[in-house]
Amino acid sequence: DIVAQESVTFEEILVSDQVLSGLKKSGFHKPSPIQLKAIPLGRCGFDLVVQAKSGTGKTCVFSVVALDSINPKSVSTQVIVLAPTREIALQIHDVVSAIGQDIANLSTQVFIGGTLVSDDRQKAKHCHIAIGSPGRIKQLISLGVLLVNNVRLFVLDEADKLIEEGSLQEQINWIYSTLPSNKQMLALSATYPEVLAQFLTKYMRQPTFVRLNPRDPSLLGLKQYYLLYEEKTRHIIDILSSIPYQQALVFSNYHTRAESLCQALNSAGWPSTFISGSMEQWRRTEAINRLKTYKCRILISTDLTSRGIDAQNVDMVINMDIPHEWETYMHRIGRAGRFGGHGTAISLVSPGNEVTRLHAIAAECNASIFPLPKDLLSLNL
Ligand code: ADP
Ligand code: MG
Repeated sequence: DIVAQESVTFEEILVSDQVLSGLKKSGFHKPSPIQLKAIPLGRCGFDLVVQAKSGTGKTCVFSVVALDSINPKSVSTQVIVLAPTREIALQIHDVVSAIGQDIANLSTQVFIGGTLVSDDRQKAKHCHIAIGSPGRIKQLISLGVLLVNNVRLFVLDEADKLIEEGSLQEQINWIYSTLPSNKQMLALSATYPEVLAQFLTKYMRQPTFVRLNPRDPSLLGLKQYYLLYEEKTRHIIDILSSIPYQQALVFSNYHTRAESLCQALNSAGWPSTFISGSMEQWRRTEAINRLKTYKCRILISTDLTSRGIDAQNVDMVINMDIPHEWETYMHRIGRAGRFGGHGTAISLVSPGNEVTRLHAIAAECNASIFPLPKDLLSLNL
């Protein structure tokens, strides 16, 4: 179960007073099952591989371990957190800052591409916890802007994604090689593919595995449907006008398709926002902020936001195309149903290849994906 357990509180797992009050002020009163298992082990200094479904609270696991481990009196970087996208890095920064709000003199900084390196120089001078994307962190270390000789904790969020691409993996290798040898390492992900296992055994001496329901990555509160489509835009409008939701995320495999869907929805009277990795960073940040502050109800996205992004009111995910990998499907639908909430995921599939692919995905994820009952839709398409 994802939802916090009744009996155990954060006090009982002996989190420090300052972190405890930060947790309370951030609305975290009781640890979720993965937090209950992983935080005490992390605080003991073990290298951890934490594997749990989307939305189960993995950010809070490493935030608490990090905040409890730093010495705010020493002006040096003690923790580095890497995330595969800039948006996830910004989000982690928000969470760590919120939970760390009562730690005097704490400095948490985010370093991502698409911003000026010159701005980072000042930030890096006083930074206990550095959070960022691998490219920028590597750049800052190599320029001597970010000093890493006092780093004691190295965190890889969405670790499977971080090591999936050759270029990211190289950057992580490089960053790792610059860090002191006696550091602790945490790797967090929703899945644990073989490549990640191989990668981590190179780095972690004796990792402790903390896993929740590793065989069933599907989400309990989420209903999954598919719909054979004739005409995607009309079907999406049909879904958006018939099925209740607070906020919806629509995914496409392709930048261009996502963008033209966004234009089509806007001209059909459905205010929608578009995001993709090819946009300027300030636009990307603005789009995510619009979603999180409820200024937009519909975000059309490439797989840039399929992972890690936590917008609590997203309760509908529409797949305009079927992703190529089951992990991507699982991460996409995981944007709805955060922390045990309820949601709906609907995949539009073309009759040929895509049906086959969706069936294969359902088998891999151990998920039941039903045909969308026609009476849920109001238009007669
Ligand atoms: P994951 O990284 O596992 O996908 P997140 O760390 O993004 O999940 O957390 C998902 C949501 O659950 C967030 O909105 C977060 O604020 C909320 N959450 C996490 N832990 C707790 C807790 N102990 N109590 C209440 N809400 C929590
Ligand atoms: Mg996460």
